[in-house]
Amino acid sequence: MPIYEYHCKTCDKDFECLVFGGDPVACPECSGTEVCRLMSACGFVSKGEGGQTTRKAAADSSCSGCSATSCSGCGH
Ligand SMILES: [Zn+2]
Repeated sequence: MPIYEYHCKTCDKDFECLVFGGDPVACPECSGTEVCRLMSACGFVSKGEGGQTTRKAAADSSCSGCSATSCSGCGH
């Protein structure tokens, strides 16, 4: 089960979230949905993930969590 790290653009908080499929992610702090997924390709590595899994996920969907044109977490 993938646990990703996210960065909330609204309150500038980083948090981890268990994600099922394409479920939308909301910030636990402010319930905002302006969040950016942090992955190894963006300079962050999720805790507890094997290197192989992390690398594969990054290659498959590099920063697909970005919902805006700019992402402060990865520069995407
Ligand atoms: Zn927030």
